[in-house]
Amino acid sequence: MVPAPVSAAPALETSVYRVPLRTRFRGIDVRDGVLLRGPAGWGEFSPFWDYDVAESRRWWAAAHEAAVLGWPAPLRTSVPVNVTVPAVGPERAHAIVTASGCRSAKVKVAEPGQDPGEDEARVEAVRDALGSDGGIRVDANTAWDVETAVARITALDRVGLEYVEQPCATVEELAQLRRRVDVRIAADEVVRRAADPRRVDLREAADVVVLKVQPLGGVRAALEVAQAHGLPCVVSSALESSVGIAAGVALAAALPELPFACGLATVALFTDDVTADPLLPVDGALPVRAVTPDRLAETAADPETTRRWLARLAAVQA
Ligand SMILES: [Mg+2]
Repeated sequence: MVPAPVSAAPALETSVYRVPLRTRFRGIDVRDGVLLRGPAGWGEFSPFWDYDVAESRRWWAAAHEAAVLGWPAPLRTSVPVNVTVPAVGPERAHAIVTASGCRSAKVKVAEPGQDPGEDEARVEAVRDALGSDGGIRVDANTAWDVETAVARITALDRVGLEYVEQPCATVEELAQLRRRVDVRIAADEVVRRAADPRRVDLREAADVVVLKVQPLGGVRAALEVAQAHGLPCVVSSALESSVGIAAGVALAAALPELPFACGLATVALFTDDVTADPLLPVDGALPVRAVTPDRLAETAADPETTRRWLARLAAVQA
């Protein structure tokens, strides 16, 4: 007997949002994406515009998981988070950290067009704002070769760094660098942009793994990446709205160990959000909870942006 065909996935309600950033970050001024509602809740599909269909499929898997499957049970009720400091001047950096209430900061460095002195001034201002016991990590987003990284990290570590995130582009460079500096190395791009993030050999190259839910294909997939590497993990956002951030919080809540504050306070980088109750830190932590986007009308994208997003969504589902 021929089995009955599995019924097609139910059509998910979709809504496209678009919110401006306060400061240019990761080369973008505006963040946009699709929110989807399914039986398990809301999910976000928001691969950056420079990601092609193949790379965007994992982002879709994460959105589908959130909307249709739901997430594994949390092991904690709140998640410590760091404030994220864009490549701004020292006074602004100080103010951002002070206003955040966070005890850790992730500071963008190696911004194109800026010089090393600007990075040092920013990191020093952040140290001043946090005090001596706050954690500072810097993210160079693959900008440096090994020699440059040794020099830059040595200079920046004068304020005391928790770790440096993806200073060089390749696993081999990270391994060379790691033999020459005392600061922990965190792997981000080499993991999440790999064909199989579980199989990247980080043994000589990294001390910490950065996990991001959408680029890794969902909370469950990210937990598998964590297990495969057996290293301390930090959960970071991909600059999502509060709907996408809730998935990052669910991942951080489900990790067996969470030794560092997570990079999930990035809704503060936006001027608006899809909910009136955004996932913003209180006393340096985010609560583990569902997010209902109740400001879809106020944050709705224009018709052309909406059309382009729904085309991207259709492409990854094809
Ligand atoms: Mg990073």
